[in-house]
Amino acid sequence: MSKTRKDRQFRPVAVPDVDLNGFWGKWQDAVCNATAEILLDRCIEAGMLQAIDVDQPSPGIVIPILEWGGTTQMFWDSDLGKSIETIAYSLYRKPNAKLEARADAIIDLYEKLQDKDGYLNAWFQRVQPNRRWTNLRDHHELYCAGHLIEAAVAYFQATGKRKLLDIMCRYADYMIEVFGHGPGQIPGYCGHEEIELALVKLARVTGENKYLDLSKFFIDERGTEPHFFTEEARRDGRDPRDFIQKTYEYGQAHLPVRKQEKVVGHAVRAMYLYSGMADIATEYKDDSLTDALEVLWDDLVTKQMYITGGIGPAASNEGFTDYFDLPNDTAYAETCASVGLVFWANRMLGRGPDRRYADIMEQALYNGALPGLAIDGRTFFYDNPLESTGKHHRWKWHHCPCCPPNIARLVASIGSYMYAVADDEIAVHLYGESKLRAELCSEAKVTLEQVSNYPWNGAVSINVALEKPARFTVSLRIPEWAEGAAQLRLNGEVLEIQSIAVDGYVRIEREWQDGDRINLDLPLALRPQFANPKVRQDAGRVALMRGPLVYCVEETDNGGDLNAIVIPDVLPATTETVLEELGGAVAVDLPVLREDTAGWGSSLYRSTRAERKAGSARLVPYHLWDNREAGAMLVWLQAEK
Ligand SMILES: [Zn+2]
Repeated sequence: MSKTRKDRQFRPVAVPDVDLNGFWGKWQDAVCNATAEILLDRCIEAGMLQAIDVDQPSPGIVIPILEWGGTTQMFWDSDLGKSIETIAYSLYRKPNAKLEARADAIIDLYEKLQDKDGYLNAWFQRVQPNRRWTNLRDHHELYCAGHLIEAAVAYFQATGKRKLLDIMCRYADYMIEVFGHGPGQIPGYCGHEEIELALVKLARVTGENKYLDLSKFFIDERGTEPHFFTEEARRDGRDPRDFIQKTYEYGQAHLPVRKQEKVVGHAVRAMYLYSGMADIATEYKDDSLTDALEVLWDDLVTKQMYITGGIGPAASNEGFTDYFDLPNDTAYAETCASVGLVFWANRMLGRGPDRRYADIMEQALYNGALPGLAIDGRTFFYDNPLESTGKHHRWKWHHCPCCPPNIARLVASIGSYMYAVADDEIAVHLYGESKLRAELCSEAKVTLEQVSNYPWNGAVSINVALEKPARFTVSLRIPEWAEGAAQLRLNGEVLEIQSIAVDGYVRIEREWQDGDRINLDLPLALRPQFANPKVRQDAGRVALMRGPLVYCVEETDNGGDLNAIVIPDVLPATTETVLEELGGAVAVDLPVLREDTAGWGSSLYRSTRAERKAGSARLVPYHLWDNREAGAMLVWLQAEK
């Protein structure tokens, strides 16, 4: 397959180059004011500080070892890593000397823990020191390293402090010695991907290509024969088949990555792998990886994704099952998996703006990832069903606390997902009140200020500030749902979207002047969404979206029996109400039919269906559910016909 590739390399803008206000500003305040500290408190309550403190006795095995030969305690380094990363981003918005000092103290402990050769892993240094590098398939060793690397990069960028970065460079240098095809080297890779994308971040911040090469090695080796995981198990005296999920698909190691065509296995692992592959595709302009990723992308978004951008329907493998198997009430749809989908989508934009990816990034961000965080930043969802009888509630913590710091670090760094820069082009992927400062190849210093109450309102005004006039391109995403209805003006003059749109982005290339203004109006009328008829769980159902947001009904607004609500075939006129208790969210009221549950009688079955009566329903954004009075919730509603 030969295609013309875009040869541009878009890299995300740095987190501090974007100031957020409005919608995302409020979420970032919740992380700065609550979540960042809560993450540390709860990691420490769990025993994670003792685990890395060489001056205290090892805590030993706090969380029992399970039948797969491991315990979630093995990933504690990753939880501390993601928490430090969250703190790092939060310091841009809200300097907090106390929190920074706590992070510094943890980094000091890691410095003391690190072995002379560079190795660093609390579990395999302190609890099972004789098991280092013996079971890459199950033990998350490189996964933990990856999260500490991401933390190191973020903390260095936020504070200028190099200590953790230097620690992790030493560790990565040691990995370069350990992994490879040379004598005595391990020709392996981690069962839980993450190190791949982390090494790309490390390479970008240090300018050291050797870290890119190591990342590429892990990607290129994955799934090749003779199979590393099989050889490794034999060497370690384990039966290769004695594996947590009995299949290498679980960790996307069943085939070389360029031969993979179906999205399989553990959802978070898959997303992290594809994210790393997309980074390497961008850095090496590797069309073979991009080709593979495009096939996998289509497989995911046309057959295996909830309308919320949730992925991985099954709890049993925390991952994918069969095509079109999307149960609503038992949906696993782990918060981390949607966070991972945002990562992947964002990296697919590395070779050029394309709304195929950016639209899904937005959908997964608002409806798959963001539900994982309560509006006050204090409680969390791990799994994200699309229907609840009222028993599913936010957690304070989890025995496997991967999701809370994952959604927190995404929210705290969201500015870097909104914009990307390449040469003399700025791409605006996401809308929302914000200010970007960018420097282009031509050395033009540009400030783009988005004034908008998006996603509650579809009017976006972008003001351009420049020291002197400069020629460059601004690319703006026109979401597919706004196709044909969006309106664009430049300094008051209407621009014909169709004539300047490429891959769903309008490209405005010109000599920009200080004070230029772009106005984009995106229509946000409620719109019905129907599922492919192959999705048995959504047959006869309709979901309602407004702009990028999936809406749902909650018991607190609508009483019980949410399945008795019937949405009229032609959507009636709606009214909108701003809910201050939900941070200014827009609720939508509309006339509906309701099946008469009270008048049904006492029988379980009868030969005539329930009478339908006129009523009304209030819809609220799905990401905000379970932030008020607890109760039932439903996304896919009965459709009249
Ligand atoms: Zn998680």
